[in-house]
Amino acid sequence: MLEVQNLTKSFGDASVLNGIDLQLEQGHVLVIIGPSGSGKSTLLRCLNVLETPTSGTIAIGAQRIRFEPGSKPKHAEVLLLRRQTGMVFQAYHLFPHMTALQNVMEGQITALRRTKTEAETRALSLLEKVGLTDKADAYPHQLSGGQQQRVGIARAMSIDPKLLLFDEPTSALDPELVREVLKVIRQLAAEGRTMIIVTHEMRFARDVADRIMLIDDGVIVEEGPPEQLFGSPRHERTRQFLSKLS
Ligand code: ADP
Ligand code: MG
Repeated sequence: MLEVQNLTKSFGDASVLNGIDLQLEQGHVLVIIGPSGSGKSTLLRCLNVLETPTSGTIAIGAQRIRFEPGSKPKHAEVLLLRRQTGMVFQAYHLFPHMTALQNVMEGQITALRRTKTEAETRALSLLEKVGLTDKADAYPHQLSGGQQQRVGIARAMSIDPKLLLFDEPTSALDPELVREVLKVIRQLAAEGRTMIIVTHEMRFARDVADRIMLIDDGVIVEEGPPEQLFGSPRHERTRQFLSKLS
């Protein structure tokens, strides 16, 4: 489903991703953990091609792009690759002047050229899925953080992506709102969605992940099933990171 080879990303002199390789099978959930500034968001943004990787290959389904320093990928190819992923951001990033329903319709109309009627039907069913049927006509400022993030999840799913990317989806939420968002994500995992989730919610990570990956300084330190990574980490760096959390 997803194959990433030797991905690097630099901002000027700063190299943030230093050769990431990863593979993810359809229906699997990968949780990425790691200290602040280690490159987790940059990795997700590269997978979504919100950032152009400096070098390396990203393949999602049948779409594959090889990035090379100094040469720009074709815009049409970038759009095709981007369409394979749906991104859920820490800070929601909903369009403030659009209702929940319109937020979930927008990408379908612009990216997929669905008709308004088609987009609305799909958006309503996604809002139902995240438990927000009664908020379809509400604007973001009329919604709680948890509700806004659930709209964000519905929006990410609206273009029927092969892969869902979550960048610390509950970090901006008050503790009492975290659970409603994690519940939706757990439900998506149970349905067999392919997902990459960056989170600091370790109990959730352990429950939902097929594999956990620890990133530090733009490299993968350790990767494995949750029981192994949490239960008997192989690397000292992993032990240190986990011990600071508890
Ligand atoms: P994480 O999500 O793990 O906290 P990030 O991927 O956001 O880490 O950032 C990794 C590093 O890349 C940080 O040092 C950050 O300052 C740097 N960085 C991220 N985005 C940019 C950018 N657009 N321009 C310059 N530096 C960036
Ligand atoms: Mg981040």
